[in-house]
Amino acid sequence: MSELRVSRERLWDSIVETSKFGATPAGGMNRLTLSDDDKLARDWFVAACRDVGCTVTVDDVGNIFARRPGRDNSRLPIAIGSHLDTQPMGGRFDGVAGVLCGLEVLRTLDGAGHMTESPIEVINWTNEEGSRFAPTMIASGVFAGIYTSEFARGVKDRDGKTFGGELERIGYLGTTPAGNHPLDAYFELHIEQGPILYDEGTTIGVVTGAQGQLWYEITVTGRAGHAGSTPMHLRKDAMLACARITEAVNSIAKAHGPAGVGTVGLVELKPNSRNVIPGEAFLTADLRHPDGGRLRSMGAELEAAVGRVAVETDTSIEVRNVFDLPPMQFDAGCVSIVRDAVEGLGYSHRDLFSGPGHDAVYVARVAPAAMVFVPCERGLSHNEAEYATPEDLEAGANVLLHALLERDGRATGGGADV
Ligand SMILES: [Zn+2]
Repeated sequence: MSELRVSRERLWDSIVETSKFGATPAGGMNRLTLSDDDKLARDWFVAACRDVGCTVTVDDVGNIFARRPGRDNSRLPIAIGSHLDTQPMGGRFDGVAGVLCGLEVLRTLDGAGHMTESPIEVINWTNEEGSRFAPTMIASGVFAGIYTSEFARGVKDRDGKTFGGELERIGYLGTTPAGNHPLDAYFELHIEQGPILYDEGTTIGVVTGAQGQLWYEITVTGRAGHAGSTPMHLRKDAMLACARITEAVNSIAKAHGPAGVGTVGLVELKPNSRNVIPGEAFLTADLRHPDGGRLRSMGAELEAAVGRVAVETDTSIEVRNVFDLPPMQFDAGCVSIVRDAVEGLGYSHRDLFSGPGHDAVYVARVAPAAMVFVPCERGLSHNEAEYATPEDLEAGANVLLHALLERDGRATGGGADV
């Protein structure tokens, strides 16, 4: 294995430096996509990449590609990427860590004068968070052919400003059509956004795939009535049904645990008055499991439970499946390259499935891809207190560096040692 290693201090300095753009008083980030602060972070990233000899192109949904030439530029690029945008009260690491670890890999190669065989690209995907413009991961979605550029550019924020108009305003409406951009491989580092690595004290998560998701909207119709004068046996209480469905979601997830998870996160009651029996309840259910068969079972069990609750509570209940994302596996070759890199570097590691969605999930539809997770303190994310240590970020960046060198070596059929 090559002796090349990233610089912990330089990587941490770049985290500190970029967290000026959209800093919140409590130490978090508010860098909504295509805001003025997003422009400043993008400008900083582009300048830093040009400083190490990259050419920078921007596509027509604002994705930024910083390309470092290789010895053989007819080869497909090996890419590293993530996102610079944040939630309105987000942290300094979600997404940003992946882009800056990619930059640190470029700087390390540049500092060592190491010329790869294949060109290298570091990518910033626009609007991963989906907070200002829905849906989430829209620009990696265009890259992967899931949405058209026209669709993405026409999406409006709450103030009626379009994605395309805001791209133009901040100077990042590129001319290259998004997509049709083949990659030899794509690696994305991200904080775990969950507690497993932190609780175990494990340094690296080798991400083998992403969970499947089933989302439901459930409407319970009961009968509103007086809280004082309606006997219990005559009630059609929509809230009671809602509570029992919530209990069912929880017990179904536990029965398919530890990998299965289930959440009722949104409830609306009508009329929502303290002395009226609720006549209607609207709730959402979010079921996730890495195994497609188990996920379908969870869905079927939820529908059966809803049927029972309707009978027990004398209500009628309508269930609508509004999102159905099958579980996905990352490319076995890329995953084993990541695992080999971690083992070669001597970091503690475990395999993980991703709970959240990431740009890599879409990119994986058009290129061999894998992900690297690093711990975040107490699993906290989408929170101003989000934190990852310099040591863990250094480890993650070293894993990216060596996964890339290994891929580069395999592509050429030779060793990657300098
Ligand atoms: Zn993210």
